[in-house]
Amino acid sequence: MSSIKIMKVYIETFGCQMNEYDSERILYYLGEKGYRKTMDMDESDIIVINTCAVREKAENRLFGHLGSLKSRLKGQSSKMVCVGGCTAQSLAGKIQEKFPFVDIVFGTHNISRLPELIDERSREGRIICSVADEGFDYALDETKRLDPYRALIPVSIGCNNFCTYCIVPHVRGREISIDPIAIINTIKALVSDGVVQVTLLGQNVNSYGKDLEEGIDFSYLLQKISDIGGLKRIRFMTSHPKDISLSLIRTIGERENIMNHIHLPLQAGSDRILKKMNRKYNRDRFMKIVENIYNNIKDCAISSDIIVGFPGEERKDFDDTLDIVRRARFDRVFTFIYSPRQGTSAARMEDKIPASEKKKWFEELLELQNQVSFEKNSKYKGAKFKVLVEGFSPKNKDLLQGRMENNTVVLFKGKKDIIGSIIEVKITETKSFYIRGNVSK
Ligand code: SAM
Ligand code: SF4
Repeated sequence: MSSIKIMKVYIETFGCQMNEYDSERILYYLGEKGYRKTMDMDESDIIVINTCAVREKAENRLFGHLGSLKSRLKGQSSKMVCVGGCTAQSLAGKIQEKFPFVDIVFGTHNISRLPELIDERSREGRIICSVADEGFDYALDETKRLDPYRALIPVSIGCNNFCTYCIVPHVRGREISIDPIAIINTIKALVSDGVVQVTLLGQNVNSYGKDLEEGIDFSYLLQKISDIGGLKRIRFMTSHPKDISLSLIRTIGERENIMNHIHLPLQAGSDRILKKMNRKYNRDRFMKIVENIYNNIKDCAISSDIIVGFPGEERKDFDDTLDIVRRARFDRVFTFIYSPRQGTSAARMEDKIPASEKKKWFEELLELQNQVSFEKNSKYKGAKFKVLVEGFSPKNKDLLQGRMENNTVVLFKGKKDIIGSIIEVKITETKSFYIRGNVSK
């Protein structure tokens, strides 16, 4: 009796939520061709690596990773290796040159063509490279969701902002807003399928609709999505400060199912550096937005991104960043040491600050933010919060992990069958990075 072999795909994802979403698309297209996902690389027929190019570290990690993959795969030429995502888009030639065992290099715009590229590789035997910008060419339901309760949905792709340090517009192309009707219908279908939370993705969700008909903006989209019956939680990221409006802040504050958390990247607190970064806001405007958020959205958490050591940054500029961090009282900050990206205009700017100095500033910033996060989290002790149970904690498999409405992560004991539900948790212990609690009876 002959049995049909089920082909298996092993996928690794680096980087942001947009990359996670892209990986769900990759799994969908390969799934349509009969491939099944495996967590074990050894039993896979196809290995897909979905890369990130935002910082040099991510790129170096990929090269290190491909180096060890090469040794691991020695003598297993039957496995096909596909490298996709932002680094594939920006450094296709370098990947092919340094790692000739890679079978397919595909860009961020060529995901739906991956099965075709795999067939082409098998048929023609030559190495395939496909990185042309094909714009927005897919339907939003073409994904293999990895979580039954939470879904990622792009509302726009690409970016028009060209912050001088950033590679994203160079690899993801110009901003295209996705049709609001397609977004709403997709979310309605997801809710019927048991999804309770959607996270709307865009490099700058606040400029949503600028390329659509008049009257359609992010505030309008949020209201329409918020009206969908049964949808419990709406999250979104990222909010560029230059495009956030008071009416958008009010919409978030007024709607029960739009979560009280805004990711508002500051990047730098000095007007001189913000200008060199091409961010198009200044520190006063940023603080005004923070004030509007705290005044209009009850118990809103604000998270941010900050880059330390941008070319030309001096101690007094960095002090301006510390000053905003003290005043804005972010709940969490993602901190990065500036990393030059080839092709961006900042990479051509003179950068005289020694790496050791940047490191010191970076640690100073971390210490300050840890203190602020600790103080903010301390206030939760003894209080009860609604928490969406996400699953077991990746760091401690004996504990469940969930999120409060304001996106704070909470760890607690509980049974597997509450995953996906919204429960009440009483907070018992708070630190800078985590919070623990007990499920309320
Ligand atoms: N579109 C989002 C925005 O405007 O905030 C985020 C894009 S990027 C994937 C995420 C973060 O990476 C940025 O907010 C920035 O802080 C950081 N980043 C981007 N380019 C960087 C660079 N060249 N060096 C260090 N950090 C960088
Ligand atoms: Fe990069 Fe700026 Fe666009 Fe964000 S808004 S993706 S930081 S260019």
